[in-house]
Amino acid sequence: MNAAPSRTVRTTCPYCAVQCNFDLHIEQGLVTRAAPTRDCPVARGTVCKKGLAAPADLRHPDRLTTPLLRRDGQLVPVSWPEAMAHVREALTPLVQRAPQRIGVFGSGSLTNEKTYLLGKFARVALQTPNIDYNGRYCMASASTALNRTFGLDRGLGFPLSDLPRSDLILLVGANIAETLPPITQYLRGTRERGGAIYAIDPRATPTAKVAGRHLAPRPGTDGLLALGLLHLMKQWGRIRPTAPAHGLSDVLWHADDYPPARVAHECGIPETDLMTLARAYADARTPLILTGRGPEQHTHGTDTVQAWLNLAFLTGHVGKQGGGFGTLTGQGNGQGGREHGQKNDQLPGARSLRDPRHRAQMAAHWNVPESHLPSPGHSAQELLNACGDSGEDGIDALIVLGSNPVVSAAGAGQITEKLRALKHLIVIDFLPSETAQLATLVLPGSMWCEEEGTTTNLEGRVQRRRRAMTAPGAAREDWRILCDLAHAIGRPHGFTYPTFRDLQDDFFLATRGGKADYSGLSAERLDRASAQWPVPRADGPDTPLAYAPTYPTPDGLATLHVPRLPTPDLAPRTLHLTTGRLSGQYQSGTQTRRNPALKAENTVQIHPDTALAYGLRAGQPVTLRTAHGQATLPVTLTPGIRPDTLFIPFHWPGAANLLTDPDALDPHSRMPGFKITPVTLLPAPVH
Ligand code: SF4
Repeated sequence: MNAAPSRTVRTTCPYCAVQCNFDLHIEQGLVTRAAPTRDCPVARGTVCKKGLAAPADLRHPDRLTTPLLRRDGQLVPVSWPEAMAHVREALTPLVQRAPQRIGVFGSGSLTNEKTYLLGKFARVALQTPNIDYNGRYCMASASTALNRTFGLDRGLGFPLSDLPRSDLILLVGANIAETLPPITQYLRGTRERGGAIYAIDPRATPTAKVAGRHLAPRPGTDGLLALGLLHLMKQWGRIRPTAPAHGLSDVLWHADDYPPARVAHECGIPETDLMTLARAYADARTPLILTGRGPEQHTHGTDTVQAWLNLAFLTGHVGKQGGGFGTLTGQGNGQGGREHGQKNDQLPGARSLRDPRHRAQMAAHWNVPESHLPSPGHSAQELLNACGDSGEDGIDALIVLGSNPVVSAAGAGQITEKLRALKHLIVIDFLPSETAQLATLVLPGSMWCEEEGTTTNLEGRVQRRRRAMTAPGAAREDWRILCDLAHAIGRPHGFTYPTFRDLQDDFFLATRGGKADYSGLSAERLDRASAQWPVPRADGPDTPLAYAPTYPTPDGLATLHVPRLPTPDLAPRTLHLTTGRLSGQYQSGTQTRRNPALKAENTVQIHPDTALAYGLRAGQPVTLRTAHGQATLPVTLTPGIRPDTLFIPFHWPGAANLLTDPDALDPHSRMPGFKITPVTLLPAPVH
């Protein structure tokens, strides 16, 4: 028998939103090597260690290769027909009598096609309103601020290659050097052309080093900093709105309440540093504000992002090449994942489930009556909080695709107990995540290069993800599993795609007429070049520049909103816990914690002065307690962190999210407050 010939397949990285391209070398049906693609339009031949290490997980000994059904408390292997018979028995009575008691929880790492299919499965097959996804923990605040201002949500409204055109970049809570490393090459371009870069972050991260200038406001106060800058721009006659808009005068009046002395005091920074930053912003020709998770992951995240967006708009920079405002998406398909229907209030093509016209368009596409489509249901954290609750809004069965809320949800200890209380927890995944380990049924799915699809990166750039190998054992492509679930519950209508291509064509067509319109795309077009949406015509161009007036709002105008920001807790000796990422880890760490090339230890980062005050040494375990739980971790001494701030990465179970609040949410984006939780240190005695 002849051995399969070796070949090379170009595809995209499974991890962050840069979506670097790789050339995968395949021998005997397995990936043996990954090399960065030289002409990758985004990373230009660079990748990070996390992406390079990804192929090692494809045949990890922990891979799920057969369905697992819980019997007598144990997960035991079963065949696919047995698994689907269980699904039929478990879900059909709920589908027929109380579909709203079934929840669906997706992920910003799913391809666009799976995102689309998951939303369609929830609304057309299950007919439940209760679908949401883990992007609610990531980009929801920026997405909400952009949508309510411009009626549009594309993280970056310009290509990354425009960054060097800026003469001043403010990186607000955006640790690019660790989380999106290839972008630092564009920042270097800015500096080489004489531009200045500020990192605004309570920690002096590696990004602060790349930037060269660092301002460290108290966690949760960066929106106040934006208000202080707007106050000074008004005082110095620098207000030149980008375009006529609603709400301009209210926002400007409100900024009068934030003079520099107040802002510096509440942010915990020297007033002279604030004035220097303000002068640099006022003098710049094309300043650019880029926000990351820092301003977003708060119970006032939407208004914090809004404060920065208002500043960019009112000083006339939005929509300029290399200037204005942008937000840096984190998850691999965080952009596409929030456009095509797995959000609780959204339909494909970035349509709104609340808009009668959008509902009618999708009902027609799916060939169902408009009344068939549910109204918006629980958002992600509310969906998890409702699990196991026997009340009117409770959830009895949850289907999870590619997400691990036992680690990533706020109040993870409470959420774990709620998931345990479910009647049915069906998890589709490729590795036994902590959530899968609680499941009543585990369905083995596919990893990144085991399936076809498209992803949309942080610039709104759609790229092909190509299949390089098959999933091991009885593991299947996720899209086929979703179709099988629809058939198992007796709702096959619209879930019979002979090939992946049929699903993809259905998806592209479904976006026609939406704001995120991909209907001019095809696999062949994407083979020639990636494209930034909207792409409404097969023979037309893509759209590198978004956010130029007029906007896709009812009257074509933007609407600015007055940001309502809390006064920070200024009591002496208050300690704030903040959470975030490490360079070698991804999300809840299901893959990266298993990868020996990415080995890392989970610790709490503490300023040496704080450690001294509490009698702590490096490596010593310390217990952190909040109103929501406690965790014990070894100490890392970190001179670059504010003395009133502690940092824990969120990639490990039993740590960061045991301490965060599961109940308090941003009123607009429904985002929990991952970035600031009052915390008490209980030091172990020093020996
Ligand atoms: Fe590129 Fe992000 Fe993958 Fe690293 S993790 S290789 S930066 S896409």
